[in-house]
Amino acid sequence: MAKKSKWGFSTKSIHVGNEADKEMGSVSPPIHLTSTFKQDGVGKNRGHDYSRVSNPTRQRLEENLASLDGANYAVCYSTGMAATTALFQLFDAGDHILISRNTYGGTFRMSMNVLKRQGIEFDWIDTRDPENIKNHIKSNTRLVHVETPTNPLLELCDLEATAKVCTKADVYLSVDNSFMSPYGQRPLEFGVDVVMQSSTKSLSGHSDVLGGVLTTNNEDLAERLQFMLKATGGVPSPFDNWILLRSTKTLALRYQKASDNAAELAKWLNEQKNIGRVIYPGLKSHPQHEIARKQQRTPKGDIIYGNMISIDLDAKEARDHFLSQLEVFTLAESLGGVESLVCVPYNMTHAAVPDDAKLEMGITETLIRLSIGIENLEDIKSDLSKALD
Ligand SMILES: *Cc1c(COP(=O)(O)O)cnc(C)c1O
Repeated sequence: MAKKSKWGFSTKSIHVGNEADKEMGSVSPPIHLTSTFKQDGVGKNRGHDYSRVSNPTRQRLEENLASLDGANYAVCYSTGMAATTALFQLFDAGDHILISRNTYGGTFRMSMNVLKRQGIEFDWIDTRDPENIKNHIKSNTRLVHVETPTNPLLELCDLEATAKVCTKADVYLSVDNSFMSPYGQRPLEFGVDVVMQSSTKSLSGHSDVLGGVLTTNNEDLAERLQFMLKATGGVPSPFDNWILLRSTKTLALRYQKASDNAAELAKWLNEQKNIGRVIYPGLKSHPQHEIARKQQRTPKGDIIYGNMISIDLDAKEARDHFLSQLEVFTLAESLGGVESLVCVPYNMTHAAVPDDAKLEMGITETLIRLSIGIENLEDIKSDLSKALD
């Protein structure tokens, strides 16, 4: 169980799990690069026996990430997909899981090509309206898994209202919070049961490591997730854990700056004539702007809209010209790094989703997703300006 802390977000991110090494006093914690641990007698270990089960560096990271989400428990995995898979594998053949329709493409691929074959049922629905979620809950529904904002259409789900629907129906609610990070949104505060994050994204923030994490206040779920990790083995390496532990120290600074950049850019993009639509929760034109204002808050309570913007250029030639002119932005999958990235979800992150399903939702071939980094705002803006010309 993680230590609850009275500290502010940045103090927690820097100190929880980062206590000086007991043996040598190193301020930066050691990396326990070991698969196994010496036992002082049969069955007598010093807290760890084998690194798939537990490792001191992973334990530090779990304490750190739990504290950022305001959670009692965190369980770390090798990737975000390993975390989501472990969560869904808590359920059995015949159980039913409801998921936001334009969720991460990999979640769709894993669900439909792996767990569906093993008998778990899935439905992909519009989770913008809690009533719609309620209407899709069946007698065998065990979990509602939402993304807010969704990827890449930035549709929002009212977490408080949805948690009420799920509690009433006695169904677990989990949230993929990879886009907002705990700096921008802490779903457990709204009564959500489990938070999933790809720590590959804003948590690590430097596009140099893969990781995933599940946090919860539910002891029974935490135990079952810990068991799932030990039993199936999708653990992160000690080195990757250490990189992440180092990275979350600057999460507040990085996320705030990236979000400030994105808010300015979204406003500016919205004024440009040659763009079909600009999607950003911070724009008044976003149909769910008010929900963003309600639930996307920094730990201090300020409204924050995030680092992701989607734009539609409406023509493939315009799209290709735009992509070929960018210098600050790199054409690549992933998001949440210090460097700005651009991608075409239709062909890249959402390649696994059937074309008609994508088009029906509005994921067109000309929809472009921007992950805004922390470069100088003027440089990002002039890069976009030149490419849009
Ligand atoms: C990247 C991502 C994932 C998957 O995480 P990996 O670390 O790549 O396995 C899941 N959900 C969202 C929203 C993501 O952006």
